[in-house]
Amino acid sequence: VKPTIYAITPTFSRPVQKAELTRLSQTFLHVPNFHWIVVEDAATKTTLVTRFLEESGLIYTHLAAATPPNYKLGRNDPNWKKPRGVEQRNAALRWLRENLKPTDRGVVFFADDDNTYSIKLFHEMEKIQRVGVWPVGLVGGLMVEKPMCDNVTSKVIGFNAVWKPDRPFPLDMAGFAINLRLLLENKDAVFSYEVQGGYQESEILSQIVTRNELEPLADCCTKVYVWHTRTEPPQLNVEQLLIKKGKRSNVGIEV
Ligand code: UDP
Ligand code: MN
Repeated sequence: VKPTIYAITPTFSRPVQKAELTRLSQTFLHVPNFHWIVVEDAATKTTLVTRFLEESGLIYTHLAAATPPNYKLGRNDPNWKKPRGVEQRNAALRWLRENLKPTDRGVVFFADDDNTYSIKLFHEMEKIQRVGVWPVGLVGGLMVEKPMCDNVTSKVIGFNAVWKPDRPFPLDMAGFAINLRLLLENKDAVFSYEVQGGYQESEILSQIVTRNELEPLADCCTKVYVWHTRTEPPQLNVEQLLIKKGKRSNVGIEV
């Protein structure tokens, strides 16, 4: 029996949101045993996302958890950057812990709404006993950021990251997935606002696994099945003028 893949996606309202969610959902439709946990960064669920999910054909859970507006952390730290997705990912973890049983078999993955996913990635995840790791394309200033995998032992022997390489787990949010069992056993493992930028992955992973226990996937980390793509904000300068004239282009049509 295949484990259910729970993909946790924080998302927020912006012009490209429906396009991003459409691209994602149509990848996920190719994955059997898939359960999408979509968490809006909003006080309440929006009509757009509600309708979108209803029509998606996917098994899903729809949550809303707004990022606290003026979350201040390390305000004297010049390198501080507002963490994204913390509130939403934690809300999803809470949902998993409240709704699933220790006997449920699953794998939990953090799927940001702007990345690009190969369906091959989800087949890899089915093998995960604790925490699986794999390369991520186009991130950390590199073509590919990846764990280094020993061919003989199939163990992770290091990481090629050059951006903040001293992180306990120097990998991107898209570069790992966690067996549901570990998240249920480690009930208190969550993301935190109290960490430096780039340390969210290390924050959650160091609460549930050691580097030595990581399971390299994607052919000993030689294949890229996920890319940290980012979507350019569209030019809507003409639309701005139309809005002022009360003649916006999208009256009665959802974009
Ligand atoms: N996100 C969010 N609220 C925000 C900004 C981002 O919920 O105010 C979501 C976003 O939709 C994505 C995730 O958090 O799923 C990570 O954000 P982003 O892709 O901007 O991060 P980066 O690409 O810089 O890692
Ligand atoms: Mn992103």
